[in-house]
Amino acid sequence: MKKLGIYVHIPFCIRKCLYCDFLSFSEGEERRALYFDALKKEIAYSAKECSGYETESVFIGGGTPTSVDPDYITEIMKLLKDNYNILENAEITIECNPGTADFSALKKYREAGINRLSIGLQSANDDELKRLGRIHNRKQFEDCYQNARMAGFENVNVDLMSALPGQKISDWENNLNYVLGLDPKPEHISAYSLIIEEGTPFYDLYNDEACKDCSLAALPLPDEDTERNMYYLTKELLGKKGYHRYEISNYAAGTYECLHNKRYWECRDYIGFGIGAASLMNGVRYSNIRDMSKYISCFTKEDSVSDIKSGDEMLKDIRENTEKLTETAKMEEFMFLGLRMTKGVSIKEFRDKFGKEIHEIYGNVISSLREEGLLEVTEDSVRLTDKGMDVSNYCMAEFLL
Ligand code: SF4
Repeated sequence: MKKLGIYVHIPFCIRKCLYCDFLSFSEGEERRALYFDALKKEIAYSAKECSGYETESVFIGGGTPTSVDPDYITEIMKLLKDNYNILENAEITIECNPGTADFSALKKYREAGINRLSIGLQSANDDELKRLGRIHNRKQFEDCYQNARMAGFENVNVDLMSALPGQKISDWENNLNYVLGLDPKPEHISAYSLIIEEGTPFYDLYNDEACKDCSLAALPLPDEDTERNMYYLTKELLGKKGYHRYEISNYAAGTYECLHNKRYWECRDYIGFGIGAASLMNGVRYSNIRDMSKYISCFTKEDSVSDIKSGDEMLKDIRENTEKLTETAKMEEFMFLGLRMTKGVSIKEFRDKFGKEIHEIYGNVISSLREEGLLEVTEDSVRLTDKGMDVSNYCMAEFLL
C-alpha cells in the first residue's frame, strides 16, 4: 500500500511575533469555531482520495495549534483516525508554544494519540525573546517541557533560532548549552537562522530608514561571519552531546529523525489540510487558498439550497496552483530536496524512480561539484560534503535542468 503524510494547518496565534511571515492570525473564538467546522469538512471529504494509502505521519502545525481549545485538536485526531488508515506506529506531531499548553492540555493531546511535541523555544534568553516579540519566557518553556514529559511525551523537539538582533556568539552558545542541559535531553533539535522576511515588522525595522533610529533596530544583526560561526558551533556542540545532523538545520539523538519532514525532502506523497496547506499527491503539487473567509465560505455553501455542492466540488474550490510535475521537475526536486539531507540521494532510488542513471542526467554537475570538494559519491549515494552543506543553495541550484 502507498504511504502518506498528513499536514493540518491551525492558523491561530495569541499575537504575531515580529519576524513571522507564516500564515497565522490572532482571531476570536467565533472565527476559530467556523474555521474548525470547515477544516473538519475538508478532512472528511478528502478521505476518499486517500483510501489507497497508509498514513505514516501526521503533523499539526501553524500558527500555534496549542493556542486553541484542546478539544478542537481531539476532534481533528478522531476524525483522522476514523477516516484515514493511520498506522499504529505513525509519528504524530503537534507544534506547541510555551505558555499556551498546560499539563491538562498536554495530557489531552497524548490521549488523542499525539506522540511527538515540537516546542518553539527560539531562545533561552528572556531579552532575546522580548526582542523577537515572543509571548513566553524561559520559565514558561521549562514548565511546558517538564509538563510534556509528565504527560507522557517521549519524543520532543526544541526549536532554536540563531543570528538574532544583538546576539553574540557567546549568547548563542549559552542557548545551545541551556537546551543540552535539559533533563531529560530533547530527542530532536531544530536550529535555524533568523531570516528577515518582507512584510514583517522586522523587515521594516531593518530596511526602512525611518525605523533605523528606534531602539530595536539599533541592535545590529550579526554579520555573515558570526552567523557562519554560530552554525559551525551548533554542529560541534550538538555532535559532542550525541546528536547527529541529518539535514541542514535538523539534529536528532539516535533514531529520532522527524519522519514527517523527511517525507518532504524525499518527495513522498503528503496531503495538507487547512488554509495555505501544500500537498504533493501522485506527482501533482497544489496548495489551498490562503484567504480564511473564502475557505470558510467554500465549506458553508452546502447549507444554501440555491447552491448545493458536492464535497469534491468544494475541494476543487479551495485548491489552487495545481501543477502536474513533469519528469524534469520531478528529477530536479528529487535532487535539490534530497541533498538537504546529510545522507544525500540514493542512486538506486533515482534509477527506480526515473528509469535512468543519475550520472546520465547529472554527470557533469556531479563532476564539477566533486572537483570543488562540495559533493561526494559513495557506492549507493550522492551527497553534499560539509563544505557543500555550507553553500547548499549554490549546490542545489546546479541541479536545475
Ligand atoms: S508563534 Fe510562530 S506562527 Fe505564531 S506568530 Fe510567532 S512565529 Fe508566527
